[in-house]
Amino acid sequence: MVDSHAVVVGAGIGGLSAALALHRHGWRVTVLERAPEMREVGAGLSLMANAVRAVDALGLGPALRRGGHGEAPGGIRNRHGRWLSRVDASEMIRQLGTRALGVHRATLHRTLREALPASSLHTSAAVEHVESAPDRAEVRYQGPDGTHTLTADLVVGADGLRSRVRAQLWPHHPGPVYAGSTTWRAAIAFPGPIPAAITWGPGAEFGMVPIGDGQLYWYGALNAPPGGHAPDELAAVRERFGDWHDPIPALLAATPPDVVLRNDIHYLAEPLPSYVRGRVALLGDAAHPMTPNLGQGAGQAIEDAVVLGAVCAGGAEGVPAALAAYDEQRRPRSQSVARASYVAGRFGQQLHNPIAFAMRNIALRLTPGRVALRSMARYADWRPPAG
Ligand SMILES: Cc1cc2nc3c(=O)[nH]c(=O)nc-3n(C[C@H](O)[C@H](O)[C@H](O)COP(=O)(O)OP(=O)(O)OC[C@H]3O[C@@H](n4cnc5c(N)ncnc54)[C@H](O)[C@@H]3O)c2cc1C
Repeated sequence: MVDSHAVVVGAGIGGLSAALALHRHGWRVTVLERAPEMREVGAGLSLMANAVRAVDALGLGPALRRGGHGEAPGGIRNRHGRWLSRVDASEMIRQLGTRALGVHRATLHRTLREALPASSLHTSAAVEHVESAPDRAEVRYQGPDGTHTLTADLVVGADGLRSRVRAQLWPHHPGPVYAGSTTWRAAIAFPGPIPAAITWGPGAEFGMVPIGDGQLYWYGALNAPPGGHAPDELAAVRERFGDWHDPIPALLAATPPDVVLRNDIHYLAEPLPSYVRGRVALLGDAAHPMTPNLGQGAGQAIEDAVVLGAVCAGGAEGVPAALAAYDEQRRPRSQSVARASYVAGRFGQQLHNPIAFAMRNIALRLTPGRVALRSMARYADWRPPAG
């Protein structure tokens, strides 16, 4: 293959996955990250079966299975600990062919980074402008020593929720909107067998996911106005969830205050009409920021990356056709996952009307396990392109 060069904007999970997928197909990659160091902010992550297949396709499955925790999802409880829906883990594994995986975000990020040539990663490189011509694309960025311009055969906009690449190339798109919920999360040391499970209260959800190495990731989500902050975020979580069922109080008691992160949840209410402009492709949260209710945001970003690598396997020559195929394969699926995730949030975490809440819980208790499993498996049943 002639020298084919891709510039990836953003070194989050999506950007690094894209760089790795292209690198594995013979591309020279340059990753530009505006932060002064390469690291992932955040606690844990569930990689559903589709995401596990995608990390397998990137060659990282064995390392992540060693570094994470194979999830046997327990199901959904009410705040008193009564199970509303239980997942038959062995049936789920039989249907999907693999377990889900709980991982620390830092482990996933480091594993991706270590699979790339160190010389391809550039920090303190804030991209300011991207332009596409028929035969090449250009990226202007601000580095520690001034302004630089790079020419590439392909540019990947993986610059997250507030993507500058999206705003620049789709200037009339309204961008992300607030979904109505705020979340707290933390990764903590917590030995002991705890199933990955969620708990619903009115307008609230608490989740726990083992992430390997004696660690556990918890999150709490709550309907709230945007922009809220508490002087002590852990105290705010205790106030809201501290009297929920065991082991939630123990998890909060084991949490150091300084590891608690708080984020409002945003998503694209208006899906993008395309993920591609000329030789620039959007990927991950830049393309389809979604609510976290199906645990699929990073999974979709890694799927995007695997498909992008596969369609670009022929190198620089075929980029326009490859990106048309990328858009065709990725946009319908990722946008339908995003839509389903939003709906799952409305009927799950966000439901607060007492009558609707009670009826939903009764319906859940009456739903046969195999039906619940089928709806859970629907979006997790994805396979990477052959070859
Ligand atoms: C509370 C919560 C829980 C979640 N749980 C899950 C889960 O269990 N499972 C799951 O699959 N997903 C989950 N997600 C979603 C997941 O975190 C995201 O979808 C995923 O991290 C997106 O990765 P990304 O690389 O696309 O974007 P980001 O992680 O946002 O990375 C973008 C990168 O681009 C850089 N950047 C931005 N602008 C520029 C610029 N101009 N120049 C250079 N660099 C730039 C940023 O610094 C950043 O490093 C969750 C999200 C939230 C909020």
